[in-house]
Order: sequence, then structure tokens, then C-alpha cells
Amino acid sequence: MARIVVIGAGFAGQTAALYLGKRLGRKHEITVINSSDQFYFIPSYVWVGTGRMDPKKTHFPLKPVYDRFRIRLHAGRATAVNPVQQTVSALCEDGSETHFGYDYLLIATGPKLNFEATPGLGPGRNSLSICTLGHATEARDAYLEKVERMERGERQRFLIGTGHPLATCQGAAFEYISNIHKDLVRRGLRDKADLHWLSNEADLGDFGIRGISNEGKAELSGNSREFIEAVFNDMGISWEVQRGVTAVDRDRVEWEAYDGSKGETAFDFAMLIPQFTGVPLKVEDTAGNNLHDRLMNPAHFIKVDGIYGLPYDQLEDMPEAWPAVYQNPDYRNIFAAGIAFAPPGPISVPHTNPNGMSITATPPRTGMVSGIIGRVVALNIADLVEKGRMTHQERMSEMAAACIASMGDSLWDGGAATIMIHPVVPNRKKYPGSGRDEFVTHMEMGLAGAWMKRMIHTTS
Ligand SMILES: Cc1cc2nc3c(=O)[nH]c(=O)nc-3n(C[C@H](O)[C@H](O)[C@H](O)COP(=O)(O)OP(=O)(O)OC[C@H]3O[C@@H](n4cnc5c(N)ncnc54)[C@H](O)[C@@H]3O)c2cc1C
Repeated sequence: MARIVVIGAGFAGQTAALYLGKRLGRKHEITVINSSDQFYFIPSYVWVGTGRMDPKKTHFPLKPVYDRFRIRLHAGRATAVNPVQQTVSALCEDGSETHFGYDYLLIATGPKLNFEATPGLGPGRNSLSICTLGHATEARDAYLEKVERMERGERQRFLIGTGHPLATCQGAAFEYISNIHKDLVRRGLRDKADLHWLSNEADLGDFGIRGISNEGKAELSGNSREFIEAVFNDMGISWEVQRGVTAVDRDRVEWEAYDGSKGETAFDFAMLIPQFTGVPLKVEDTAGNNLHDRLMNPAHFIKVDGIYGLPYDQLEDMPEAWPAVYQNPDYRNIFAAGIAFAPPGPISVPHTNPNGMSITATPPRTGMVSGIIGRVVALNIADLVEKGRMTHQERMSEMAAACIASMGDSLWDGGAATIMIHPVVPNRKKYPGSGRDEFVTHMEMGLAGAWMKRMIHTTS
């Protein structure tokens, strides 16, 4: 009997666990270690953060689902991996420690929200976040307090975007600013608010994926920059891009720009996405030798079968540098999926300003991408258990993905930007020009997206 341990039950770990349960649950032991006994549907936090969704509607208990798939759940935090002895240590709710032996390990721990990397950033300091349910609920309370002020006639400045020069997840911030716009219109308060977008993207609509082009679509024109510019103009949202936030004060952020200049942007309410790193775990053998660097890079992302260390101008023409099976080269029974794996570099064009600061949107690994990678890894682990060899692979430079960015939750007058891309990482060898398949890749806006987004929430 094989023992398979999955750390993390987000989009990547949950998808993997369910595939593993289906293929191997009857004959093998599958254990999921997750910080919580709930599955959290993160995309809907955008609606929690504007008071449009009850936080209770964004999560459900894992155990009843896992029981059906014969998966064991351990609700607690994994703290250490011993890749030699093949054990994972995890804390229980009562503070005691449990050790889990494994034959195969999947690390799918998502991001560590690295607020500390920007002085003053984040909940409990000077800005808000919607990256966890607690954060989104706090952002909602702060937002509703601003709404009350506007109802009393005060003007309020909302600043939304990224809070670190290397942040990712611009899509979530875009959803939040457009949902705030929509909510304020509905409340008849839009004229009392200044909405401002501040991000580290190379261009508006870059989203950390080098933007999207609607080339080849007769009925749709333009690219994601023109699209987002039109949306922001329509919504009356002002913007600054190519900005790396360096500090957040009580009522203003400090930033450096691409050209090295420094500036400030004032706010009354700021929701800024922090830098994401990997989740730190102690990696040691039984003798206490530190094996961290064999498993993880310095930012704690898991090293897998990508080609690391290439300069960007080489990487952008090497689709094969992106990992195919998400397997650690030193410990070949350890895999990573979702945000936990180390990408070989940025997808968007990186930029270092004259002061030496890298202002670069780092690669997002969205829900669908994380789920696809989780499935690939699970199927390969099942293959290894049953046949002794892997038969699946999918690089982000081969992968198609969809994303629906909410621009208002209402099923009557809401909207969403529906984005299809293939491949996620442009592959100019296969698709000269933009690097993407023009037939598949496109972006469009409309009410249908709001329905699809709501359906995904309801069926998840
Ligand atoms: C506000 C917001 C909106 C978004 N909207 C969209 C969207 O509309 N569409 C989309 O595709 N993507 C969206 N995303 C991105 C999407 O949420 C992520 O891409 C996705 O969650 C990544 O999946 P993951 O499994 O890698 O990580 P996560 O979903 O973060 O899951 C990691 C899991 O591991 C657990 N964990 C962490 N450390 C440990 C540990 N030490 N021990 C045990 N468990 C641990 C965590 O508790 C968590 O359950 C959004 C993100 C945000 C913040």
C-alpha cells in the first residue's frame, strides 16, 4: 500500500486529492494536511470585501467530501519535511505534533502573503487585503465605514492595486476596484469617491501574463491594455502603472517608478496585494542537516523540473524551460502544484529601474492553472503507484486557461471580463508573433460572464 500525503487543500491540492482519491482511494492511503478543515473559495472574497456576499457562503467542510473518496484529513499546519526519512510533521489544533510517513508527497501550500516585505502594508498596519476570508471581512467593514462617511457627504479616496514591486494577482485587485465602482453606483455614492489604480504592471492590462491580444478576432478588437483603459475610462477610474510600492503610511503610499523617480499617492482606503512567497517549511534530515535549498528556492517556492536561472531574453523563447511534471529533481517522490512551485522566471517583461529596483509583475498561477497542475501531478503519482512511470505532463507554455474577472456581481446589471488564453506562457516557437493561439485567446466583457462567475461560485 502506497502512502500519499498532500499538503494544502486549495485549488491545486484539492483537485489533486480528489483525483488521487478516485484512482487510489480504495487500495492506498491518501492524507491531506490542510491548515483548516474547510475548503475556501477564494475568488468570491471580492464580493465579501464589498459587503455583497455573506462570508459563510465562501467555504464548506472538507471531511464529508473526503469520506466519499476515502481521503484522510488532518486539519493542522505542516511545519517540516524530512525528505530522507520521508515524513511530514504537522501541528494539531491542540498544539501537539503528528508525523506522517509518505511514499509520495505533493506540496500545494499556495502563497505566504509577505506583507512584511513592504513597511506598513497589510491588515493591522495601514492597508487592507482581500487575500484571506478574515482579510476580506475586515476590508468589508472598512469599506462600509467609508460608505457611511460618503453618505454623510464626505469625499473618499480609494487606492487599489499592488503593494510590492514584485507582486502578482493583479486580476483580483482589478475585480475589487470594479466591484467597488459598481457598488458605489448602486448606492448613489459614486460621485463622492475617487477610485485610483496603482500597480507594478508593465502596462495596463498586463496582469503578469504579458497582456492579451484579441488579434484574429474579427468581432473583437484591441488588446487587454485598450480593454482595461476603456473600462477604467468608462468607470471614471484613474490609474498609474510601472510603480513599485516601497512603503505604506497611514494615508499615503510611497513608490518608485520605472524611470527611478519616487512619488506618493494619497488614500483614505487602500487595498493592495502583497508580495507572494512560498510557504516556509523546515526541510531537514534526521541528523538535523538543513536540506532547504535542495527542495526550495530562497523564496521558499519548491524547485521542480523547470530550467532555472535563464535571463529573460532566453527564457521567453524557451517554452521547454517551464516545468512539465512538477517533480523535484533531488527528491523525485516530491511534487509541487499551484502557487507552491517555483516558476523559472516572469511571464511579463521584467524591469529594473536606475536605482536597481526590479519592478516586475511576477507570474500568476490562477485557480484553473493550479487545478490543472494538481490534476497532472495526481495522475502521475497514481501512474507511478500503479505502473511505475509517469504518463502525463503539461507546461504552462502549453496550457490553455480561462479566467472570469468579476466587474459587478449582479445577475441583472453586473458584468465580467471573460479571458481565454492559450498558452498561458507565450510560446513564440509555436505561435510566432504574440506567442498565443489567436483562435483561442481572447477577452470580452458582458453580463454572461457575471452569470458564469456566479455559477462557478455556486457549483464549487
Ligand atoms: C481575492 C482573490 C480573488 C481571486 N480570484 C480568482 C479568480 O476569479 N479566478 C482564478 O482563477 N483565480 C483567482 N484567484 C487566484 C487563486 O485564488 C489562486 O490562484 C489559487 O488559490 C492558488 O491555488 P493554490 O492551491 O496554489 O493555493 P491556495 O488556494 O492558497 O491553497 C493553499 C492551501 O494550503 C494551505 N496551507 C498553506 N500552508 C500550509 C501548511 N503549512 N500546512 C497545511 N496547509 C497549508 C492553505 O490553508 C490553503 O488551504 C484569486 C485570488 C485572490 C486572492
